[in-house]
Amino acid sequence: MNQRYSRQILFAEIGKAGQQKLLDARVVIVGCGALGASHAEMLSRAGVGHLKIVDRDFVEFTNLQRQTLFKESDAAERLPKAIAAKTRIGEINSEVEVDAIVADVNQSNVEQIVADADLVLDGTDNFQIRYLLNDACVKLDKTWIYGAAVSSYGTTMTITPGQTPCLRCIFEEMPDAGSSPTCDTAGVIMPIIATVSAVQVSEALKIIVGDRNALHGSLMQFDVWENDWRKIKLSKPNADCRSCGQHVFDFLDAESHEFAAVLCGRDAVQISPPISTSFDLSAFGAKITSFSDVKQNDYLVRFSIDGNEITVFRDGRAIIKGTDDISAARSLYARYVGA
Ligand SMILES: [Zn+2]
Repeated sequence: MNQRYSRQILFAEIGKAGQQKLLDARVVIVGCGALGASHAEMLSRAGVGHLKIVDRDFVEFTNLQRQTLFKESDAAERLPKAIAAKTRIGEINSEVEVDAIVADVNQSNVEQIVADADLVLDGTDNFQIRYLLNDACVKLDKTWIYGAAVSSYGTTMTITPGQTPCLRCIFEEMPDAGSSPTCDTAGVIMPIIATVSAVQVSEALKIIVGDRNALHGSLMQFDVWENDWRKIKLSKPNADCRSCGQHVFDFLDAESHEFAAVLCGRDAVQISPPISTSFDLSAFGAKITSFSDVKQNDYLVRFSIDGNEITVFRDGRAIIKGTDDISAARSLYARYVGA
């Protein structure tokens, strides 16, 4: 076996057999911001053989303070995070197979995304996706590891359907939009990212090597500024839970996915075509060359109009910066993208 893992193999709880399990494992990382980038780096260094990284966004300079996989040139080129992550992991550990998916996770694709996973890691930044992920993982019987970090505090919980409470057992209803602080409104510091992601990845390693007795079995909460660390022991799953108790998957069964979503605190709106399409980016780029500040790479076209910056992806999605008004964003989309 590769010398590269010698120190990890010396760690008795992993050993040679555990290392082989890591090499064979398939892990899905949903969201490749600060937490997801940290998961991806640690798992690829550990030799987890197959990573699927899903993210809808591109790298910006404001990400570089905490999103460890990315560098200045990624932000300058506005590379999609999933693509930049794949490139960087190729430099860290070329033996890891990375499936980079530039897409919004919603009810049309979430089950397909997690279907072949041994394990799912939460690197997202909002509850809407987490509830969707929870429903998909409960339905398909996948363990997933919830994680969140904002400001100097964070939380994590490992969810194994049927054995532990799920996200809806603990937080029955999704918090109202705008009611929780986000990294874009309250800021965030790197050490809380490192803390939460370290616990998530430790749990991932335990699960992959089969040492489930070592799982922490709690809702863990940390504040690295207030020096507060809490561990709330989890009990059994709630039999009345809509998701894991009754197997009613409200989030998967929602009639159609939101056509437009405000990206909280970012002064931006994401518009998705109602049906996923393959969008001819180069034809589109050629069409709008007369607009100001057109920037194009293999994955996206960005241009500015009337103080808004519009970024269009290959799947026909657009992120419209400079507004949090959905109808204004929809009208810009209809006027200039029109997919
Ligand atoms: Zn539940």
